[in-house]
Amino acid sequence: MADRVFNFSAGPATLPEPVLRQAQQDVWDLYGTGIGILEHSHRGKAFDRVTAETEAACREIANIGDDYSVFWMQGGATSQCYFVPANFLPEDRTADYFQTGKWAQDSIDEVHHYGTVHICGSSKDANYNHIPTGSQVSYSDNPVYVHYTSNNTIMGTQFREPPAAPGNAFLVCDASSDIYSRPIDINAHGLIYAGAQKNLGPSGITLLIARKDLVEEAVRPLPEMMKFSNHAKKEGRYNTPNTFGVYLMGQVFKWILDQGGLTAVEQINEEKAGVLYDFLDGQDFYIPHAETESRSRMNVTFKCPTPELDKQFVQQAAEKGLDGLKGHRSIGGMRASIYNAHPKAGCEALVSFMKEFAMENAVTRA
Ligand SMILES: *Cc1c(COP(=O)(O)O)cnc(C)c1O
Repeated sequence: MADRVFNFSAGPATLPEPVLRQAQQDVWDLYGTGIGILEHSHRGKAFDRVTAETEAACREIANIGDDYSVFWMQGGATSQCYFVPANFLPEDRTADYFQTGKWAQDSIDEVHHYGTVHICGSSKDANYNHIPTGSQVSYSDNPVYVHYTSNNTIMGTQFREPPAAPGNAFLVCDASSDIYSRPIDINAHGLIYAGAQKNLGPSGITLLIARKDLVEEAVRPLPEMMKFSNHAKKEGRYNTPNTFGVYLMGQVFKWILDQGGLTAVEQINEEKAGVLYDFLDGQDFYIPHAETESRSRMNVTFKCPTPELDKQFVQQAAEKGLDGLKGHRSIGGMRASIYNAHPKAGCEALVSFMKEFAMENAVTRA
């Protein structure tokens, strides 16, 4: 079998090697049942155990209390763009949204079907190169909730801490690309959701951590599949879940605990991102996209002096076993996605390549 390469893909992304090895076995035979994880009924005993273990590990990592439900849904994080306002926002009320990138914008675009949206902070005019803070933030009078995207996967920006929601408003966080990459204050939030394919597992499954009182009942009549209440009450088994996804998330949660939990994981992530940012700060060939204060520890975005060089960079890097570095089409350039499971050696290999490439293509910048 060919060696694995350093995978910088934004998602689906690198998974921890011990998890992949365990999964190889469990696809063949789970818990000695003679049946693989892909073949077990979602109502059977083996899958009861998978569900229980995944939920327990998820709770242990972030100290999630009994006043919160932990469950999962299908449809990716993108479906939460409408699930959230449909369940939470009455027609005559307003929800505040941070406009910090493409995924934030997708959420904003769905709100008008249900109620009123107020943009409480935006970096759109600066091509989303920072997170609005301080005087750049202005909430509406009495929002039901405040929605923010903790890590902007495409732009490479990240909230340092959750914004402070005003009055009785609760916080809703799209944490798809930095969930469990650092300690998280669950109790500061009404709902945290995360598509699994960046930090937790395969695509097609979304983790939800929700305050129980908020998901007891939707604010309007909805189709059954759209009600948070049904999914929360049935432990993510209102209909057939992505059973393999639930299993794999559980394995990744256990791996996070084995690493020493979120404080340890955060430290490793800081070191990894530090390798790249320290290099970027000490040179003048590459142009970083994010402002220093808003830099993401998960997605590092930068450009060469010309789009032509960007293309060559991505191609030559791939030839050297550094895969998936092409930036999103909306900002171009490069993006190195270095989620929890991406090894520090990948960051070091990338910096070596960046040095070589800069030397070979040195040009005087205007
Ligand atoms: C990847 C991503 C999404 C979209 O996830 P899907 O599974 O494709 O729906 C949404 N929000 C953020 C922050 C993401 O990184």
